[in-house]
Amino acid sequence: RGIAWVDGKITSMEEAKIPFLDRGYFFGDGVYEAVKVVEGKLFALEEHLERFERSMKEIRITPPKTKAEFTDIIMECLEKAGIPDAMVYLQVTRGIGPRMHAFLPQGEPMVTLFVAPMASLEESVRVAGVSCITVPDERWAHPHIKTLNLLPNVLAKQAAAEQGAFEAIFVLGTEPGGGLVTEASSSNIAAVIKGKVVTPPLNGRILPGVSRAIMLETARAARIEVEEREITLEEMRGAEEVILTSTGVEVLGVCELDGVTVGQGVSGPLTRRLYEVFMAGSVQRLT
Ligand code: PLP
Repeated sequence: RGIAWVDGKITSMEEAKIPFLDRGYFFGDGVYEAVKVVEGKLFALEEHLERFERSMKEIRITPPKTKAEFTDIIMECLEKAGIPDAMVYLQVTRGIGPRMHAFLPQGEPMVTLFVAPMASLEESVRVAGVSCITVPDERWAHPHIKTLNLLPNVLAKQAAAEQGAFEAIFVLGTEPGGGLVTEASSSNIAAVIKGKVVTPPLNGRILPGVSRAIMLETARAARIEVEEREITLEEMRGAEEVILTSTGVEVLGVCELDGVTVGQGVSGPLTRRLYEVFMAGSVQRLT
């Protein structure tokens, strides 16, 4: 199930064809977004489209469509797909042309999109929490841009999968305190340290997660104390709770880190509270 939109043409996922000379294929020369669809409604669409535009500008692609035009395409595809709980994936590459590193003088950005089913996480997983491993953050210096170059993230997630873990958390550098925790392979992270929710700042070393922003906003509105500051690996190992946030998992507790129990070994109470205020706040962000 699911449908694809490639440069204006809608097909099934299996029938979708991307031109061989697309620079996304050769260089990962493009950016993307993933938006959650809940009961037919898009979650935080405006935030995603804004980040999409920012990502394009950062890598010097002139947005080929306005946010309103992207919205129209998404709506058309959602209607055609008829999948109530789904993910919309949006991608723009620098376009098609002979393989050369420098931009092509007449290159036109290439837009692709798909809608595919995405179920919400099981409540039992939410209660139990998930296990994570840590891996060195060996990505390029601009992970705040949502580019297609996800090889370090792919390898990190695979390392987690091979150890029976759900996610891999990136750690930048080694000293002091074992290095700084940045984010995970496809989610942002936070920790409860001395009763306070702490999450790494937007300093260019992490993706500015839409879910991270909404978690912070809804937590502040609920008078839960939050702080954006660096977290060392040592601090995270001693945290009462560790939390992942992303479009896919929303706000999810971590029960184990590198084989060692976090807190009580289940998703913690503050994680649950953050999840609840996040979900309550989500209702106003559906279109
Ligand atoms: N960090 C990385 C590296 C990601 O790939 C993602 C999402 O896919 C996130 C964080 C979470 O971002 P968002 O909450 O916008 O989904």
